Amino acid sequence: MVIAPRGTKDLLPGEVEKWQFIEWVARDICETYGFKEIRTPIFEYTELFLRGIGDATDIVQKEMYTFDDRGGRSITLRPEGTAAVVRAYIEHHLDAQPQPVKLYCLGPMFRYDRPQAGRFRQFHQMDFETFGSHDPAVDAEIISCTWDYLTSLGLTGLHIELNSVGCPDCRPGFTTALKEYFRPRLDSLCGNCQVRLEQNPLRLLDCKVPQCRELGAGAPAITDHLCEACSAHFEKVQQYLRLLEIPFHLNPGLVRGLDYYTHTAFEVTVEGLGAQSSVAGGGRYNNLVEDCGGPPVPGIGAAIGLERVLLALEHQQIELPIPSAGLVFVATTEALSDPLEGAALTLLMELRRSGYAAEKDYAGRSLKAQMKQAGRLGARWCVIIGPEELDGHKVLLRDMSQGTQVSVPRQELLELLGRMQNGEAE
Ligand SMILES: [Zn+2]
Ligand SMILES: [Zn+2]
Repeated sequence: MVIAPRGTKDLLPGEVEKWQFIEWVARDICETYGFKEIRTPIFEYTELFLRGIGDATDIVQKEMYTFDDRGGRSITLRPEGTAAVVRAYIEHHLDAQPQPVKLYCLGPMFRYDRPQAGRFRQFHQMDFETFGSHDPAVDAEIISCTWDYLTSLGLTGLHIELNSVGCPDCRPGFTTALKEYFRPRLDSLCGNCQVRLEQNPLRLLDCKVPQCRELGAGAPAITDHLCEACSAHFEKVQQYLRLLEIPFHLNPGLVRGLDYYTHTAFEVTVEGLGAQSSVAGGGRYNNLVEDCGGPPVPGIGAAIGLERVLLALEHQQIELPIPSAGLVFVATTEALSDPLEGAALTLLMELRRSGYAAEKDYAGRSLKAQMKQAGRLGARWCVIIGPEELDGHKVLLRDMSQGTQVSVPRQELLELLGRMQNGEAE
């Protein structure tokens, strides 16, 4: 038997409703904040990610699903959302529209990573990006949108960690200071970091290996190396977050795994999830659009990991207020008798065309078994038809939660259901 690939997951009914709900809330918050949805392809030319993510990153070096298509072009399943949105922004000249342009996207991403709790090879993110503004209020907006989403789901124990990773003016001075600090300690670093030191020394601060973390704690802080513009921008972002009463901690070790960030970088963690505690993160990328071949347009974005969000909700035992569909079950007192079957089918169709979720039995069950089935399906009402009802142009309407039933003229059923749906009748 063939099973689903390692690191992927089928979302079955019962679980998928949670996904629909958290995605619905995500869209709702994004629209409230003025972001418009964009849908980009799930695969792109590999070159986009080499340019857009940076070839010294772990994602590009170890984690991408890259293959040649039948035409011999190198294709990669998107490992993150920003690069493709930036590509679309450039390709469709969205810089010609009034700025800022605010976009969000929601969907699967792919990374060849070691699967573990909360980490999959096909995982899902909500990304939102703002292009065309240097205003630190936009940084605060991205962070508050992330915060509002997570808190509106009822999550607690959330922490925002905030840092500035500088700009091309001030970062070289900082990376020199980092190299000078780590070089005499090279032998104590993990193998990865020994390679990173010359290639991408910022990443040393991000390493999860204990000995590197220990050394990193004593490393120079980027906030001591920021240029005047970066410093002023960072101050403003903090000032706005305080004004909006969004709590944050400064973490000078926060550099995020991607090369493209400038100025603001942030991450949101949730207590109690151990190694999977990071649920969201993002930052400013003022040079990314230009690096990808576009005009010099600043940008900032964030991504929320939806598997992590669900893991956190589960850990905190939060029941999502998933609305029930108000199913109507059509039952017959006798199974498989022709006129009854026909009446049930036409009623079923009428209900569905009037917008009700409606279902019936297809297995010739007894009335008692049909009632059980209706209960299993979570039906709110049951409409029962027997020979007597058929003759009298009536139906029995049973309220499944109350256990009460009334005889209703067939003609008035839909109107009555409508009134009951709106809570106007008993
Ligand atoms: Zn700077
Ligand atoms: Zn390391």
